[in-house]
Amino acid sequence: MTMKIDLHSHTYYSDGHLSPAELVLRAHQMQLDVLAITDHDTTQALAEARHAQAQEKRHLEIISGIELTTRWHGFDIHILGLHFDEHDEQLQQRLLEQTRTRVDRARQICVKLAKCGIENVFDDAMVKVGQGQITRAHIAQVLLDRGEVSSFQGAFTKYLGKDKRAFVSAQWIDIATAIQWIHEAGGVAAIAHPASYDMKTKWLKRLLSEFKSLGGDGMEVTHPNMQPSKKELLTKLALEYDLKAVVGSDFHFPSRWSELGKRLDISAKLTPLWQDWPCLASFNKEYL
Ligand code: AMP
Ligand code: MN
Ligand code: MN
Ligand code: MN
Repeated sequence: MTMKIDLHSHTYYSDGHLSPAELVLRAHQMQLDVLAITDHDTTQALAEARHAQAQEKRHLEIISGIELTTRWHGFDIHILGLHFDEHDEQLQQRLLEQTRTRVDRARQICVKLAKCGIENVFDDAMVKVGQGQITRAHIAQVLLDRGEVSSFQGAFTKYLGKDKRAFVSAQWIDIATAIQWIHEAGGVAAIAHPASYDMKTKWLKRLLSEFKSLGGDGMEVTHPNMQPSKKELLTKLALEYDLKAVVGSDFHFPSRWSELGKRLDISAKLTPLWQDWPCLASFNKEYL
């Protein structure tokens, strides 16, 4: 038996579409053994997910997770925090800072949209957000619902993407701070989707080298739709910079091209970030 593991997923507490209970159900349907829920800058989904799992007969190990947004040389770099104490008071206080940054940025984006003639987007977006974190995905959905753009992607290419008409560069924490927050809550830190930052390999190497020297633990090395050549590059870089491997689908909602736990196998040369997690001891004996 091999273990099926997915360490990157979202719920409707950030920009995912499923509730925590629906995500847990889907994880069972996809025969996952281990699932980390990594919403943008919040751990709100975890309690509900654990409650849902408690009603299930089939085992599923739910790992605490988060995807912290950071700023590095003009890039928004996402740092996954995994396997930490989600009840850590200090961490929860610190996360309120990121929530404020998210709300402030969303307001500024909506001011820019109003200047383009698209009024009152903020309130509509907040209705979609509910109890969770506001993201550009919520704003994109409002623009799509109103017919201001013809596709979700179009909202980014026209307004919300980097340097587009309603782009706002936010005051995110830096990478060192993200690593510190995660470590002080007892977890490990990994760079999310290193291949998707639209930077030259030279810059990516600089990012990985700096992340490692700041105490970073791992990096994602694969994604369900990743080309083999990209995967080879990330494998090589993880070995070169001595970063442990993380696998995750970055699941936001069920679709033709995204699913939990699919095509996430990695090279045997890599060290899995989860190899010494006590909760996975029985799995790891067979997996490694
Ligand atoms: P935020 O963290 O608020 O900047 O929102 C980022 C989220 O928006 C990402 O996690 C993606 O889910 C989504 N997103 C960002 N850029 C794009 C894009 N070009 N097309 C579609 N979705 C995007
Ligand atoms: Mn997202
Ligand atoms: Mn991300
Ligand atoms: Mn993500």
